[in-house]
Amino acid sequence: MDIYQLYASRHDYPDLDYDKAAEHLSQAIRCRTVSHVDTAETDQSQFERLHQLIRENYPFIMKNAACKTFGNSLLIELSGSDKTLKPAMFIAHQDVVPVIESTVRKWIHDPFSGDISAGFIWGRGSLDIKEMLIGFLEAAEYLLSKGTKFARTVYLAFGEDEETVGSGAKAICRYLLSEGVELEFVWDESGKIRDGKTYGAPAITVGEIGMYEKGYADFAFRTRSTGGHSSLPFYGTSLGNLATAINAVVSEKRPGSLSETIKESLRILQPFITEEPLVSLVRNIDENEEAILEYFLADPELFALAATTKAPTMITPGAPAANVMPGDMEAVINYRMVPGDTIESLQQHYRSLLPDNVEVTFLRGVNASRASRHDSFGFRSLVRALNRYYPDVVFIPSANTAATDGHNYEPVCSCVLRFTPFLEDNAIKAEGIHGTNERLSIRAFQQGLRVIVRMMEISCLKQAK
Ligand SMILES: [Zn+2]
Repeated sequence: MDIYQLYASRHDYPDLDYDKAAEHLSQAIRCRTVSHVDTAETDQSQFERLHQLIRENYPFIMKNAACKTFGNSLLIELSGSDKTLKPAMFIAHQDVVPVIESTVRKWIHDPFSGDISAGFIWGRGSLDIKEMLIGFLEAAEYLLSKGTKFARTVYLAFGEDEETVGSGAKAICRYLLSEGVELEFVWDESGKIRDGKTYGAPAITVGEIGMYEKGYADFAFRTRSTGGHSSLPFYGTSLGNLATAINAVVSEKRPGSLSETIKESLRILQPFITEEPLVSLVRNIDENEEAILEYFLADPELFALAATTKAPTMITPGAPAANVMPGDMEAVINYRMVPGDTIESLQQHYRSLLPDNVEVTFLRGVNASRASRHDSFGFRSLVRALNRYYPDVVFIPSANTAATDGHNYEPVCSCVLRFTPFLEDNAIKAEGIHGTNERLSIRAFQQGLRVIVRMMEISCLKQAK
């Protein structure tokens, strides 16, 4: 799929200074805003640099806005003229993940160079997600500089630790809650672009907007042993018992489920689906739910939308020598739960599935978020904006398989939309996001900027209802 072939209406907003916007993104990438779980390791001065850039580069926003900070997290409020309209919020996180030392030499441009070269803006954060942070600022600045007045209050909210614990988004949400603010919609990153073939619709491209986030849970599985000489493993070893337990968990087929959101996405796709077996199955989605679920669970691209996934990720080292039995051992399995499976239900299930010599402990996590409605003003507006720039993409409500900041705003908003409007090549994204050679093409950056300006116009100006 050539993603750039999907672009349309490229001549909109000819007076927007795209070069300056790219330079601003480049400057933002040069701020090494790496977040760490242990905040003592986080370099606060890098966040201050980024805030300084924001203050300098966006004079119209600064003149019109009320700014608040919560630690390093930022909330910018641009007050609208019509107080009967609920505010809209545009969110992106300031932080980025670290660059693994051993991979630095694989980067064509230094990870924090912000180099603009060969049609790309290079560096950590160019895809995740400083382009969206800068995009929101550029769009608001552009509209304000032209004398545009927002009817709906616009919030720009930039958390500091989405990649670790999301405390910044939680703090901003607590503040809004205390002020009695209720938001019309929140627009956050994520989403996916897929070849329609996956859904049996080869003539189209599908854009999945995340309406909820799957749950997240880390569970520790522990086996105990005093160790000893490996010639007498009468009860097996702690490693053997742990391996058996991991195998029992991983090989167990759990039922999975199709959420209402996923079923709705199939209703939208139905007119485009031409291939069996889905073309027959989606004629009556409710009646064929079981068979559709089986189809999803058997597909490497779709299974995560319907299954609670389990990924064994960590294990303590075993014995120091081949003839020594290991002592206590522990493995961590990372879960991503579909709505319906919860931390509590998983814990109960594994207690009954596994033998007594395996302890199961919940470490951390959060249940699946609430699903936003696809018949909301926010969703309709976003699809309208996206469709102008990507007219051949059919946008559907879907699920986020990974967590983001969005769910933290549930207490103040029933419509959280997760979609990154900068459509970049899937291979570039796969390599770059949390990986090496993270880069965003200039054309994707410009096209995404147009989507954001259009979305602000559609949803936040006078005619907005
Ligand atoms: Zn991100």
